[in-house]
Amino acid sequence: KTFAQCGLNLKMMNVLKKLDYSKPTSIQAQAIPAIMSGRDVIGIAKTGSGKTLAFLLPMFRHILDQPELEEGDGPIAVILAPTRELAMQTYKEANKFAKVLGLRVACTYGGVGISEQIADLKRGAEIVVCTPGRMIDVLAANSGKVTNLRRVTYLVLDEADRMFDKGFEPQIMKVVNNIRPDKQTVLFSATFPRHMEALARKVLDKPVEILV
Ligand code: AMP
Repeated sequence: KTFAQCGLNLKMMNVLKKLDYSKPTSIQAQAIPAIMSGRDVIGIAKTGSGKTLAFLLPMFRHILDQPELEEGDGPIAVILAPTRELAMQTYKEANKFAKVLGLRVACTYGGVGISEQIADLKRGAEIVVCTPGRMIDVLAANSGKVTNLRRVTYLVLDEADRMFDKGFEPQIMKVVNNIRPDKQTVLFSATFPRHMEALARKVLDKPVEILV
C-alpha cells in the first residue's frame, strides 16, 4: 500500500515526499484510512511501529479540510501524552509537517514553569501536544482566557496504557468533557488491558480496532 492509496491528498503527499517518507508502515496503512473515514479508532501498536504518523497524518488532513477559522481561537487538534518526553518527541515530529503546511503546534507539559507555555498558546496553535494535568492547569489559567477547547474536533490519546498506569484517567476525562461530543477520537496503546476497556467505552464512539 502507498500513502496515496491510504487516501492522503496531494498536499500531504508532497510534504511526505519532501520529508523523505516513501511508504507507510503497517500500522499507518491500516489506521490512516480508518481514521480518515471519520470513525473513532483504537490502534494497538508499540513505539517504533510508526504510530505517531498514523495519527498525525490524518490529523493534518482533518485540519486542512476545515473551512476558514478565526485566528487564535484555540486548537483544532489535541494530543494527550503520558510524559513530557513523549509530548516533546511528538511535538517535534508534528512540527516538521506543520512548518511546511503553515500550521502551528504548541507543547505543554508539567514539571516546568507554565508562563512560557501560556505565552505560546496565546500566540495561537492549531495543534496542542500536552500532558493531561498541565492541559487542565492551562485551561484554568487566567480564568480560562489562555486557551479553550471549543474548536477541538480531533483528539488523540497516545500511549493510553501508560497514561492509565500513571493514574491520569480523571485528568483525561476532564479534558474529554471539555471537548464537544461530536469530536473524532483516536486512541493508541501498546497494550489493551481489560481495565482500559471501560475508559475506551466512555471516550470512544463505536471504535474501529486495529492490531499490528
Ligand atoms: P513511532 O513508532 O511513531 O515512534 O516512529 C518510529 C520512527 O519511525 C520515527 O523516527 C519515525 O520518524 C519513523 N517513521 C514513521 N513512519 C515512517 C515511514 N512511513 N517510513 C519511514 N520511517 C517512518
